[in-house]
Amino acid sequence: MYFFGERSGRQLNPDPSKKLSGPLPGEARQPNESRPDNPPTDWIPCVTVSQANGQVVTASGVSRRYGEGEAAVDALVDISTGFDRGRFTAIMGPSGSGKSTLMHILAGLDAPTAGTVTLDGEQITGLDDAALTKLRRDKLGFVFQFFNLLPVLTAEENLVLPLSIAGRKPDAEWLDRLVRTVGLEDRRAHRPSELSGGQQQRVAVARALVSKPAVVFADEPTGNLDSKASADVMKLLRQAVDEFGQTVIMVTHDPVAAAHADRLITLRDGGIVHDAAPGDADEVIELMKTID
Ligand code: ADP
Ligand code: MG
Repeated sequence: MYFFGERSGRQLNPDPSKKLSGPLPGEARQPNESRPDNPPTDWIPCVTVSQANGQVVTASGVSRRYGEGEAAVDALVDISTGFDRGRFTAIMGPSGSGKSTLMHILAGLDAPTAGTVTLDGEQITGLDDAALTKLRRDKLGFVFQFFNLLPVLTAEENLVLPLSIAGRKPDAEWLDRLVRTVGLEDRRAHRPSELSGGQQQRVAVARALVSKPAVVFADEPTGNLDSKASADVMKLLRQAVDEFGQTVIMVTHDPVAAAHADRLITLRDGGIVHDAAPGDADEVIELMKTID
Protein backbone atom coordinates (compact mmCIF):
# COMPACT_ATOMS: atom_id res chain seq x y z
CA MET A 1 0.00 0.00 0.00
CA TYR A 2 1.15 3.51 -0.70
CA PHE A 3 0.49 6.75 1.00
CA PHE A 4 0.18 9.88 -0.94
CA GLY A 5 1.00 13.40 0.07
CA GLU A 6 0.54 16.60 -1.80
CA ARG A 7 3.35 18.03 -3.86
CA SER A 8 4.12 20.42 -1.05
CA GLY A 9 5.72 17.40 0.57
CA ARG A 10 3.42 17.46 3.57
CA GLN A 11 3.72 14.04 5.11
CA LEU A 12 0.55 12.33 6.08
CA ASN A 13 2.27 9.84 8.31
CA PRO A 14 3.51 11.39 11.56
CA ASP A 15 6.44 9.04 11.84
CA PRO A 16 7.42 7.68 8.46
CA SER A 17 10.22 5.58 9.91
CA LYS A 18 7.69 3.46 11.73
CA LYS A 19 4.74 1.23 11.14
CA LEU A 20 4.10 1.85 7.51
CA SER A 21 4.80 -1.01 5.24
CA GLY A 22 3.19 -2.90 2.50
CA PRO A 23 4.01 -4.40 -0.82
CA LEU A 24 7.19 -3.06 -2.38
CA PRO A 25 6.92 -1.21 -5.66
CA GLY A 26 5.97 -3.69 -8.32
CA GLU A 27 4.46 -6.16 -5.89
CA ALA A 28 0.81 -6.93 -6.13
CA ARG A 29 -1.42 -5.20 -3.67
CA GLN A 30 -5.01 -5.77 -2.73
CA PRO A 31 -7.54 -3.82 -4.71
CA ASN A 32 -8.71 -0.91 -2.71
CA GLU A 33 -11.47 1.31 -3.87
CA SER A 34 -10.59 4.15 -1.54
CA ARG A 35 -7.09 4.37 -2.98
CA PRO A 36 -7.31 4.37 -6.75
CA ASP A 37 -4.78 2.39 -8.74
CA ASN A 38 -4.09 5.45 -10.81
CA PRO A 39 -3.87 8.24 -8.28
CA PRO A 40 -4.15 11.82 -9.45
CA THR A 41 -0.86 12.99 -10.90
CA ASP A 42 -0.44 15.65 -8.25
CA TRP A 43 -0.06 12.92 -5.65
CA ILE A 44 3.37 11.51 -5.01
CA PRO A 45 4.39 8.60 -2.82
CA CYS A 46 5.75 10.16 0.36
CA VAL A 47 6.56 7.23 2.59
CA THR A 48 9.38 4.80 2.24
CA VAL A 49 8.02 1.29 2.30
CA SER A 50 10.05 -0.30 5.04
CA GLN A 51 8.95 -3.87 5.18
CA ALA A 52 8.19 -6.29 2.42
CA ASN A 53 5.91 -8.52 4.44
CA GLY A 54 2.55 -6.83 4.28
CA GLN A 55 0.75 -9.07 6.77
CA VAL A 56 0.74 -7.93 10.36
CA VAL A 57 -1.59 -10.61 11.72
CA THR A 58 -1.95 -14.16 10.41
CA ALA A 59 -4.10 -17.06 11.49
CA SER A 60 -3.13 -20.49 10.29
CA GLY A 61 -5.50 -23.42 10.71
CA VAL A 62 -7.08 -21.77 13.74
CA SER A 63 -9.84 -23.69 15.51
CA ARG A 64 -11.43 -23.05 18.88
CA ARG A 65 -13.50 -25.66 20.63
CA TYR A 66 -15.28 -24.87 23.86
CA GLY A 67 -16.07 -27.75 26.20
CA GLU A 68 -15.63 -31.43 25.53
CA GLY A 69 -17.49 -34.48 24.28
CA GLU A 70 -21.14 -34.13 23.35
CA ALA A 71 -21.35 -30.64 24.79
CA ALA A 72 -18.39 -29.36 22.74
CA VAL A 73 -18.97 -26.23 20.65
CA ASP A 74 -16.73 -25.51 17.68
CA ALA A 75 -16.64 -21.74 17.75
CA LEU A 76 -13.99 -21.53 15.01
CA VAL A 77 -13.17 -24.21 12.48
CA ASP A 78 -9.84 -24.18 10.61
CA ILE A 79 -9.53 -20.47 9.89
CA SER A 80 -6.56 -19.40 7.80
CA THR A 81 -6.25 -15.77 6.80
CA GLY A 82 -3.92 -12.79 7.00
CA PHE A 83 -4.36 -9.08 7.58
CA ASP A 84 -2.31 -6.58 5.57
CA ARG A 85 -0.67 -3.67 7.25
CA GLY A 86 -2.41 -0.37 6.83
CA ARG A 87 -5.74 -1.85 5.87
CA PHE A 88 -9.15 -1.72 7.48
CA THR A 89 -10.98 -5.03 7.83
CA ALA A 90 -14.53 -5.51 9.07
CA ILE A 91 -15.74 -8.85 10.41
CA MET A 92 -19.47 -9.58 10.32
CA GLY A 93 -21.64 -12.61 10.86
CA PRO A 94 -24.73 -13.79 12.67
CA SER A 95 -24.73 -13.99 16.46
CA GLY A 96 -22.73 -17.02 17.57
CA SER A 97 -20.78 -17.26 14.29
CA GLY A 98 -17.44 -16.83 16.08
CA LYS A 99 -16.62 -13.13 15.58
CA SER A 100 -15.67 -12.41 19.18
CA THR A 101 -13.78 -15.66 19.48
CA LEU A 102 -11.76 -14.86 16.36
CA MET A 103 -10.96 -11.36 17.51
CA HIS A 104 -9.93 -12.55 20.97
CA ILE A 105 -7.65 -15.16 19.47
CA LEU A 106 -6.07 -12.72 17.00
CA ALA A 107 -5.43 -10.33 19.88
CA GLY A 108 -3.93 -12.94 22.17
CA LEU A 109 -6.82 -12.70 24.63
CA ASP A 110 -7.74 -16.35 24.05
CA ALA A 111 -5.78 -19.31 22.69
CA PRO A 112 -6.83 -21.52 19.79
CA THR A 113 -7.30 -25.23 20.42
CA ALA A 114 -5.58 -25.86 17.07
CA GLY A 115 -3.53 -23.69 14.74
CA THR A 116 -1.29 -20.69 15.25
CA VAL A 117 -1.48 -16.91 15.21
CA THR A 118 1.35 -14.52 14.41
CA LEU A 119 1.36 -10.87 15.31
CA ASP A 120 3.87 -8.42 13.89
CA GLY A 121 6.17 -11.25 12.85
CA GLU A 122 6.03 -13.15 16.12
CA GLN A 123 4.14 -16.36 16.80
CA ILE A 124 1.94 -15.60 19.79
CA THR A 125 0.37 -19.02 20.16
CA GLY A 126 2.00 -20.69 23.15
CA LEU A 127 3.31 -17.49 24.77
CA ASP A 128 2.68 -17.32 28.50
CA ASP A 129 0.33 -14.79 30.10
CA ALA A 130 3.07 -12.34 31.02
CA ALA A 131 4.43 -12.30 27.49
CA LEU A 132 0.93 -11.91 26.04
CA THR A 133 0.14 -9.05 28.38
CA LYS A 134 3.31 -7.25 27.36
CA LEU A 135 2.64 -7.92 23.70
CA ARG A 136 -0.88 -6.53 23.94
CA ARG A 137 0.41 -3.47 25.76
CA ASP A 138 3.19 -2.83 23.25
CA LYS A 139 1.53 -3.80 20.00
CA LEU A 140 -2.23 -3.52 20.22
CA GLY A 141 -4.89 -0.90 20.68
CA PHE A 142 -8.50 -1.70 21.57
CA VAL A 143 -11.81 0.09 21.08
CA PHE A 144 -14.81 -1.44 22.83
CA GLN A 145 -18.54 -0.99 22.51
CA PHE A 146 -18.85 0.66 25.92
CA PHE A 147 -15.88 3.06 25.62
CA ASN A 148 -14.25 1.76 28.84
CA LEU A 149 -12.85 5.12 29.89
CA LEU A 150 -11.79 5.56 33.50
CA PRO A 151 -14.33 7.93 35.09
CA VAL A 152 -11.89 9.65 37.45
CA LEU A 153 -9.47 10.60 34.68
CA THR A 154 -9.85 13.49 32.25
CA ALA A 155 -10.24 12.88 28.54
CA GLU A 156 -6.56 13.59 28.00
CA GLU A 157 -5.46 11.37 30.91
CA ASN A 158 -7.59 8.57 29.48
CA LEU A 159 -6.15 9.18 26.04
CA VAL A 160 -2.53 8.81 27.17
CA LEU A 161 -3.22 5.97 29.62
CA PRO A 162 -1.65 3.20 27.50
CA LEU A 163 1.59 5.19 27.49
CA SER A 164 1.35 6.11 31.18
CA ILE A 165 0.95 2.43 32.05
CA ALA A 166 4.01 1.59 29.98
CA GLY A 167 5.97 4.38 31.72
CA ARG A 168 6.28 6.33 28.49
CA LYS A 169 5.63 9.96 27.77
CA PRO A 170 3.48 10.94 24.82
CA ASP A 171 5.16 12.86 22.07
CA ALA A 172 3.54 16.30 22.42
CA GLU A 173 3.14 16.82 18.70
CA TRP A 174 1.53 13.42 18.17
CA LEU A 175 -0.78 13.99 21.14
CA ASP A 176 -1.88 17.37 19.77
CA ARG A 177 -2.45 15.87 16.38
CA LEU A 178 -4.58 13.07 17.81
CA VAL A 179 -6.64 15.45 19.94
CA ARG A 180 -7.22 17.62 16.88
CA THR A 181 -8.04 14.63 14.70
CA VAL A 182 -10.72 13.44 17.10
CA GLY A 183 -12.01 17.01 17.48
CA LEU A 184 -11.62 17.23 21.25
CA GLU A 185 -9.32 20.24 21.60
CA ASP A 186 -11.76 21.93 23.98
CA ARG A 187 -12.56 18.76 25.93
CA ARG A 188 -9.11 17.72 27.09
CA ALA A 189 -9.82 18.42 30.78
CA HIS A 190 -13.36 17.02 30.80
CA ARG A 191 -14.19 13.80 32.57
CA PRO A 192 -16.06 11.03 30.71
CA SER A 193 -19.32 11.90 32.52
CA GLU A 194 -19.09 15.37 30.99
CA LEU A 195 -18.81 13.98 27.46
CA SER A 196 -21.40 12.58 25.07
CA GLY A 197 -21.20 8.94 24.03
CA GLY A 198 -19.74 9.95 20.68
CA GLN A 199 -17.10 12.14 22.34
CA GLN A 200 -16.21 9.35 24.76
CA GLN A 201 -15.76 6.92 21.89
CA ARG A 202 -13.59 9.44 20.06
CA VAL A 203 -11.38 9.59 23.15
CA ALA A 204 -11.30 5.78 23.12
CA VAL A 205 -10.24 5.75 19.46
CA ALA A 206 -7.47 8.26 20.18
CA ARG A 207 -6.41 6.14 23.18
CA ALA A 208 -6.19 3.09 20.91
CA LEU A 209 -3.99 5.03 18.48
CA VAL A 210 -1.73 6.87 20.92
CA SER A 211 0.98 4.23 21.11
CA LYS A 212 0.96 3.73 17.32
CA PRO A 213 0.17 0.06 17.80
CA ALA A 214 0.72 -2.59 15.15
CA VAL A 215 -3.03 -3.30 15.13
CA VAL A 216 -6.17 -1.67 16.49
CA PHE A 217 -8.93 -4.14 17.30
CA ALA A 218 -12.39 -2.64 17.54
CA ASP A 219 -15.28 -4.66 18.94
CA GLU A 220 -18.63 -3.18 17.91
CA PRO A 221 -17.25 0.38 18.19
CA THR A 222 -20.52 1.91 16.99
CA GLY A 223 -22.80 -0.52 18.83
CA ASN A 224 -23.75 2.05 21.43
CA LEU A 225 -23.82 5.20 19.31
CA ASP A 226 -26.41 7.10 17.29
CA SER A 227 -25.87 7.33 13.55
CA LYS A 228 -24.14 10.73 13.61
CA ALA A 229 -21.68 9.68 16.32
CA SER A 230 -21.17 6.35 14.53
CA ALA A 231 -20.29 8.16 11.33
CA ASP A 232 -17.76 10.32 13.21
CA VAL A 233 -16.10 7.27 14.76
CA MET A 234 -15.95 5.43 11.44
CA LYS A 235 -14.48 8.48 9.74
CA LEU A 236 -11.81 8.52 12.44
CA LEU A 237 -10.92 4.87 12.00
CA ARG A 238 -10.80 5.37 8.24
CA GLN A 239 -8.55 8.40 8.73
CA ALA A 240 -6.26 6.40 11.04
CA VAL A 241 -5.81 3.88 8.25
CA ASP A 242 -5.40 6.37 5.40
CA GLU A 243 -3.29 9.00 7.15
CA PHE A 244 -1.43 7.14 9.88
CA GLY A 245 -1.08 3.78 8.11
CA GLN A 246 -2.87 2.12 11.00
CA THR A 247 -4.09 -1.47 10.65
CA VAL A 248 -7.66 -1.83 11.95
CA ILE A 249 -9.67 -5.01 12.48
CA MET A 250 -13.27 -4.34 13.51
CA VAL A 251 -16.12 -6.63 14.49
CA THR A 252 -19.46 -5.03 13.71
CA HIS A 253 -23.14 -5.68 13.13
CA ASP A 254 -23.53 -2.35 11.39
CA PRO A 255 -23.54 -2.46 7.56
CA VAL A 256 -22.91 1.28 7.40
CA ALA A 257 -19.83 0.85 9.57
CA ALA A 258 -18.63 -2.16 7.56
CA ALA A 259 -18.89 -0.15 4.35
CA HIS A 260 -16.03 2.07 5.60
CA ALA A 261 -13.64 -0.88 5.58
CA ASP A 262 -11.39 -2.04 2.74
CA ARG A 263 -12.29 -5.65 3.31
CA LEU A 264 -15.24 -7.51 4.78
CA ILE A 265 -14.83 -10.99 6.21
CA THR A 266 -18.09 -12.79 6.91
CA LEU A 267 -18.31 -15.68 9.32
CA ARG A 268 -20.90 -18.40 9.67
CA ASP A 269 -20.68 -21.36 12.03
CA GLY A 270 -17.05 -20.64 12.82
CA GLY A 271 -15.86 -20.47 9.22
CA ILE A 272 -15.16 -17.71 6.71
CA VAL A 273 -17.91 -17.78 4.11
CA HIS A 274 -17.19 -14.54 2.29
CA ASP A 275 -14.11 -12.33 2.00
CA ALA A 276 -14.13 -9.33 -0.33
CA ALA A 277 -14.38 -5.57 -0.51
CA PRO A 278 -17.58 -4.55 1.28
CA GLY A 279 -19.10 -2.24 -1.32
CA ASP A 280 -21.60 0.27 0.02
CA ALA A 281 -23.94 -0.23 2.97
CA ASP A 282 -26.78 -1.50 0.76
CA GLU A 283 -24.50 -4.12 -0.74
CA VAL A 284 -23.43 -5.19 2.75
CA ILE A 285 -27.10 -5.51 3.75
CA GLU A 286 -27.81 -7.65 0.68
CA LEU A 287 -24.77 -9.82 1.39
CA MET A 288 -25.78 -10.36 5.01
CA LYS A 289 -29.27 -11.45 3.90
CA THR A 290 -27.62 -14.31 2.03
CA ILE A 291 -25.63 -15.33 5.09
CA ASP A 292 -28.01 -15.04 8.06
P1 ADP B 1 -20.20 -14.04 17.98
O1 ADP B 1 -19.25 -13.07 18.56
O2 ADP B 1 -20.14 -14.13 16.48
O3 ADP B 1 -21.61 -13.82 18.43
P2 ADP B 1 -18.83 -15.96 19.65
O4 ADP B 1 -17.44 -15.97 19.16
O5 ADP B 1 -19.12 -15.20 20.90
O6 ADP B 1 -19.81 -15.52 18.47
O7 ADP B 1 -19.30 -17.47 19.91
C1 ADP B 1 -19.15 -18.49 18.93
C2 ADP B 1 -19.73 -19.79 19.50
O8 ADP B 1 -18.96 -20.21 20.62
C3 ADP B 1 -21.16 -19.65 19.99
O9 ADP B 1 -21.83 -20.84 19.72
C4 ADP B 1 -20.99 -19.46 21.48
O10 ADP B 1 -22.12 -19.93 22.17
C5 ADP B 1 -19.77 -20.30 21.77
N1 ADP B 1 -19.02 -19.78 22.91
C6 ADP B 1 -18.43 -18.57 22.99
N2 ADP B 1 -17.79 -18.43 24.18
C7 ADP B 1 -17.98 -19.59 24.86
C8 ADP B 1 -17.56 -20.08 26.14
N3 ADP B 1 -16.81 -19.33 26.95
N4 ADP B 1 -17.95 -21.31 26.48
C9 ADP B 1 -18.70 -22.07 25.67
N5 ADP B 1 -19.12 -21.68 24.45
C10 ADP B 1 -18.77 -20.46 24.04
MG1 MG C 1 -19.64 -11.48 19.86
